[in-house]
Amino acid sequence: MNHSSHDPSCIFCKIIAGEIPCQKVFEDEEILAFNDINPAAPVHFLIIPKKHIPMLESATAHDAPLLGRMMELAPRLALQQGSRPGKEGGFRVLVNNGADGGQEVYHLHLHVMGGPRPWKK
Ligand code: AMP
Ligand code: ZN
Repeated sequence: MNHSSHDPSCIFCKIIAGEIPCQKVFEDEEILAFNDINPAAPVHFLIIPKKHIPMLESATAHDAPLLGRMMELAPRLALQQGSRPGKEGGFRVLVNNGADGGQEVYHLHLHVMGGPRPWKK
């Protein structure tokens, strides 16, 4: 991991560094996934890059393979976590970008939500 991208004031960087606990769903050298602390659906986890990218709009063409890997992980992890396959099942992948987009934590994350409805959102 590129530690130079670590932002000591960022809550998700603290989770990556092990300074704040999380319920881990997946980890490799450049990606971490963990359950959302305030789930909006029966399955609700976040996929984050270990590199501190504040917003989707901060990502560059250089980050495209990393973003692609995060997207490719979403369906696999969603099924592992209990979302149901196929058209009758499914899940939602969501990125909030900026205040108008509802972003609260300024470390890029994919929300992955699934499981039987109703959901909160
Ligand atoms: P957003 O509004 O897209 O920035 O979403 C931030 C998400 O991070 C919210 O759904 C929070 O519930 C979640 N969250 C905040 N702190 C933690 C934490 N320590 N562990 C897990 N999820 C968190
Ligand atoms: Zn961060």
